[in-house]
Amino acid sequence: MADKTHKLHENVPGPWYVDDTCTPCRVCLDEAPELLKYNDDETYVYFFKQPEGDEEEAAAQNAEGICPQNAIGNDGE
Ligand code: SF4
Repeated sequence: MADKTHKLHENVPGPWYVDDTCTPCRVCLDEAPELLKYNDDETYVYFFKQPEGDEEEAAAQNAEGICPQNAIGNDGE
């Protein structure tokens, strides 16, 4: 389970976040490329945009579900 006390500081404010256990394996980027991207040196990914609307919310949920590290959470602030 993702830990909001370990969320990466690059995540935009809002409920969805990636925490510091991201490897990064990049599989979530295929699920939600409109929401998630690599940091500059590609050592992790983060939410550069919070989901808006049902389609993007579903994409975020798919990314959360597929993450092998459980690094994606939606209880942040
Ligand atoms: S699926 Fe999880 S571990 Fe893999 S890049 Fe995305 S957030 Fe990181």
